[in-house]
Amino acid sequence: MENETIKIITSERGKDLALVGTDKYRFIRQRKDEQVKWLCTNRTCYASILSDSGRSKVLSMLGEHRHIYNGENRTPNFTRKL
Ligand SMILES: [Zn+2]
Repeated sequence: MENETIKIITSERGKDLALVGTDKYRFIRQRKDEQVKWLCTNRTCYASILSDSGRSKVLSMLGEHRHIYNGENRTPNFTRKL
């Protein structure tokens, strides 16, 4: 997945999100070496990426996603009783 293209989108709360394929990452911080760290928006997931300072491409991916889909449903294991 390295060198994947990042698309910067804005969340409902006005925060920058990095969209890589179907996964969304929230901005964490810009490091001293200018690389930008992003963490998966799925709250049960600790996969993160590093992008270049221009936020245009993935330099490296850290960890693995603990979910298959990262859509509107952020709690894939949640089952509602009707
Ligand atoms: Zn994830």
